[in-house]
Amino acid sequence: MADVRTVLSIRGAERRYRADHAALAGADLDLHAGRITALLGPSGSGKSTLLRAIAGLERLEAGSICLGETVWNDTATHVAPETRRVGMVFQDYALFPHMTALANVAFGLTGPDKTTRAQAQLEAAELGPRARAYPHELSGGEQQRVALARALAPEPTVVLLDEPFSGLDRRLRGELRERTVDALRAAGTTALIVTHDAEEAMAVADELALMDNGKIIQTGPPDEVWMSPVSATAAKLLGDVEIIEAQAKAGQAETPFGPVDAHGFEDGEAVSVLIRPRAFTLSLDPDGPCTITRRRSAGPHLTHRFAGAGGEWTAQTPAPSPIREGDRVSVELDPVYVRVVVA
Ligand code: ADP
Repeated sequence: MADVRTVLSIRGAERRYRADHAALAGADLDLHAGRITALLGPSGSGKSTLLRAIAGLERLEAGSICLGETVWNDTATHVAPETRRVGMVFQDYALFPHMTALANVAFGLTGPDKTTRAQAQLEAAELGPRARAYPHELSGGEQQRVALARALAPEPTVVLLDEPFSGLDRRLRGELRERTVDALRAAGTTALIVTHDAEEAMAVADELALMDNGKIIQTGPPDEVWMSPVSATAAKLLGDVEIIEAQAKAGQAETPFGPVDAHGFEDGEAVSVLIRPRAFTLSLDPDGPCTITRRRSAGPHLTHRFAGAGGEWTAQTPAPSPIREGDRVSVELDPVYVRVVVA
């Protein structure tokens, strides 16, 4: 990787709202200069709490958050939110309804040229002509762009975006996603985008961070994380996966579809074999061990459910396919889409 200077470093972050449940349970995360990190996790995994802790809106009970050498949070320190210069884009945009787009963007700025700078920020977002409009006169997409312009205007150290596309319809979401990435890149900003949508996370991320139960369980470039999940939980966060429990033996793990490579595991070690739907390669075979129970078109590919080999499974097959419901098939695994991890 080229520039991997760490801007923000979170170590062992802990936060409990209730005695019996840690919203943050020792989260570690680094944000790198000028890079976009997507924080992906299920609802309730602690994403918003981590964001709020970075912004200074939550205190930590243990652990630390540091901007370079400067401690923002540890057990003894809590730097005030306004001192951190963190830009925030909230899920509902949180624009001031009684202020124009221009006044919203100028809000966090100081100095005699603040209106000029706010106007330039709106121009960069291609919203120059909408400067005098009030939030209720703007479309959802425009409101989101004003919110991003407002966050970027004070040249923040870090920008945090909490589910910034969730209020928009699907078509607009894709377009706005691209615009947001472009705007963050143009500003050279270090950004953290929270989402629970795997496809969205992979589309925006330079680096992906997976969160589960208050911890960051894996980080890395999105394609690497997708290809090499560290656990069944990580694999499930990124998409459909079949999981077969097995034991390693002589560098292999046995599955109903034949042995798969499990080098590096001890003999007898319990492993989980993670199989992406596209790993299943189906061939029409009247003597095959499996039967197609359902066939669904999904545009460029098909989804075939099949029964046999000790279970019922889902395959993703390229379209077109001659394989129909009721057909018997034999099944092989494409090792590219199979991973073996510690159970
Ligand atoms: P996510 O953003 O991933 O959905 P959150 O950070 O919002 O997760 O929540 C993590 C956990 O903390 C959840 O169990 C949630 O119910 C709890 N939680 C979040 N905020 C509060 C709060 N203000 N008071 C009590 N519990 C909270």
